[in-house]
Amino acid sequence: SGNEIVTDVVIIGAGPVGLFAVFELGLVDLKCHVIDILDRPGGQCAELYPEKPIYDIPAFPEISGQGLTDNLMKQIEPFGAEFHYSQMVTNVEKLADGSFRVTTDADETFVAKVIVVAAGGGSFQPKRPPVPEIENYEGKSVFYAVRKMEQFRDQDIVIVGGGDSALDWTLNLEPLARTLTLVHRRDQFRGHADSVNKMRSLIAEGKINFVRGQLSHLEGNDGMLSEVHLKTDGGDMAIPATRLLPFFGLTMKLGPVADWGLDLHDNALIKVDTEKFETSQPGVFAIGDINWYPGKLKLILSGFHEGALMAQAAKRIVHPDEKVVFQYTTSSTKLQKKLGVA
Ligand code: FAD
Repeated sequence: SGNEIVTDVVIIGAGPVGLFAVFELGLVDLKCHVIDILDRPGGQCAELYPEKPIYDIPAFPEISGQGLTDNLMKQIEPFGAEFHYSQMVTNVEKLADGSFRVTTDADETFVAKVIVVAAGGGSFQPKRPPVPEIENYEGKSVFYAVRKMEQFRDQDIVIVGGGDSALDWTLNLEPLARTLTLVHRRDQFRGHADSVNKMRSLIAEGKINFVRGQLSHLEGNDGMLSEVHLKTDGGDMAIPATRLLPFFGLTMKLGPVADWGLDLHDNALIKVDTEKFETSQPGVFAIGDINWYPGKLKLILSGFHEGALMAQAAKRIVHPDEKVVFQYTTSSTKLQKKLGVA
């Protein structure tokens, strides 16, 4: 998109810790933009265990990963943070005036005085299917996520996988596609029953095709796909295709965070102090699973505490002339006004 967004704070990662940081920063009047590779908030909670109960969130004897995410989204709503999903922060550079420029792989740029790295276990990255030369097609006709639905309009689309991503995109892209074929190695699906039912009725209505099989190889030119070849019980099969979306799950890698010149611990975690949770680069903070300090526990509740202290320090950087007054949400009408309850 090429435009530059100027804000107080950029939060890298919309996991539970990045989300709660919006709350703490909001209480000290700092405006946030939040960026995540995933297409929705919640980080590990939403991606890895949405339905599993968590038992150690203070005052919630039991809450699911998705439930915690939904509650956090509700709690931070008054602060109007802006979310930028389905893009990875690739660069963080320091500018001459002391602020930072953040760039994503979707070519969005942000300029902020404070950067909060809440990148958890690192970037969720799609697993590449074992298909020869698939990398030649990536970003041109093979995609691991849908960023712009328009890129799929009037295309011959092949979607591979049996989980929620494969099902969701089958349902969402069907109305736009010229043809759509869903490929899975079994006729059983791991996704929500409701999505499975909707998908099956699209097959019954003849609106999409289903093939039981596995990817074998691709044909095309200059990164533009023309055919997807499958191994099926009935032998090899070629499907005319101009777009391929393989959904083979995600792995977590540290990713570009390693290249931002921050001091690391064991080459994998960002070193911070325990007063402000600031990294070796003043103005860049790291909170949640991505950071390390003596005694660190990778728990959600630790990340919440880290966010509260970080926000105090961030405030001093953005507004060095303003005094930070300690206040309770229970008794401060100022804070209650910010929360929209007074
Ligand atoms: P994450 O949840 O990892 O979120 C980080 C986000 O940052 C991700 O969405 C990622 O896509 C994004 N990101 C990373 N790099 C980039 C980049 N360069 N650009 C854009 N986005 C980026 N903890 C508990 O306290 N209690 C429990 O009971 C518990 N149970 C768990 C059960 C399971 C199965 C698992 C896997 C974890 C469990 N945890 C539990 C751990 C807990 O989920 C983590 O501590 C928590 O998710 C950390 O939150 P976070 O916000 O720091 O990071």
